[in-house]
Amino acid sequence: AAMLKQVDPEISSILLEEAYRQERQVELIASENFVSPAVLATAGSVLTNKYAEGYPHKRYYGGCEVVDKAEDLAIERAKQLFGCDHVNVQPHAGSQANMGVYFSVLEPGDTILAMNLSHGGHLTHGSPVNFSGKLYNVIPYGVSKDTETIDFDEVRRLAKEHNPKMIVCGASAYPREIDAEAFRQIADEVGAYLMFDIAHIAGLVAAGYHKNPVPFCDFLTTTTHKTLRGPRGGMIMCTAEHAKKIDSAIFPGMQGGPLMHIIAAKAVAFGEALRPEFKDYQKKVVENASTLAEELVKRDFHLVSGGTDNHLILLNLTNKGVTGKAAQIALDEAGITVNKNTVPFETLSPFITSGIRVGTPAVTTRGFGKDEMVKIAEWIDRVVSSPEDKSVLKQVRSELLEVCAAKPLYPWLDKE
Ligand code: PLP
Repeated sequence: AAMLKQVDPEISSILLEEAYRQERQVELIASENFVSPAVLATAGSVLTNKYAEGYPHKRYYGGCEVVDKAEDLAIERAKQLFGCDHVNVQPHAGSQANMGVYFSVLEPGDTILAMNLSHGGHLTHGSPVNFSGKLYNVIPYGVSKDTETIDFDEVRRLAKEHNPKMIVCGASAYPREIDAEAFRQIADEVGAYLMFDIAHIAGLVAAGYHKNPVPFCDFLTTTTHKTLRGPRGGMIMCTAEHAKKIDSAIFPGMQGGPLMHIIAAKAVAFGEALRPEFKDYQKKVVENASTLAEELVKRDFHLVSGGTDNHLILLNLTNKGVTGKAAQIALDEAGITVNKNTVPFETLSPFITSGIRVGTPAVTTRGFGKDEMVKIAEWIDRVVSSPEDKSVLKQVRSELLEVCAAKPLYPWLDKE
């Protein structure tokens, strides 16, 4: 840190400023987390200097004998965590992992059936502004209006009508368990591949708090930086049958040199996820989400699908007379970080939205439990009830700073 300060005082102070920002706010963005010091150190290690195009023991560069061991470990540990046949740990991010699967077995113009973005799907699941929507013929499915959970009758009907080559499940803003077996059945009825994007729930799956979809899927993709609590990156899992096609879709198909520092950091995170403490952590993530959900319902918030089975909650703020955008801005000012989010059957633009998404992975990492969840629900209620009242935002901010100070994220900060 001292060296960086000397070489680049501007970036050095930005890093410090960001550490203070993270320390002094309540992080409820459902896709974020705080990595361990071991993961952080590995991501900032000398492995960043190495070119290693290719795969372990079959590289296009010399000097790869050391980094090979790191990639081997990442692969072995991922297999152990999820119980899959084959793993590719090279995708630079979740979007590249999804692209890798599509490129492995689809041709441009092929039909895919995937979850509607405004019902919880991800951009890479066929949004018209994304490569997936531009390259493929995308048929979106969604949730049913009454239960706000995946409408499997509709999925089956659309599958039979459009005969997709691939069905994509998994989501960015879906608070319920996703039934991979039900999707498998439909995929089998129409002869489609099944891909499950477990980016959001990977940590829950690894720890046994979401049913493991691996036995039902041809392909699984994930990010490594959400509930899994690893470095920012992606990963693909697949059955042995598709191993070769997946590997060549990633390299040389779409990427060059892998990020060996990140792959090593993935190995560290997977190692951490194999320990009993990780199971405890995921248990608390789910418990915290369920406490927060209950407390919000008590305060007359509308939770999409009525609650949560996982780490996230999608709030429809229509009954509160506040847009997602306005809520996000007011909460931010009060020290609570969330993202505005479209809700099923959204009537507002994606820049405004009727909802916000909140998740517990990050606050659970910093040690928040039941007491803090009750406080968070109360803070959200106060802010959303008076988003324009600066004195309310200020009061919440000061209460929140005390709670954050009691559970420091970076205890070294005040010594800087
Ligand atoms: N898939 C899902 C379900 C996601 O929620 C995300 C990230 O938000 C991604 C894929 C994409 O990951 P990345 O942002 O690393 O490209």
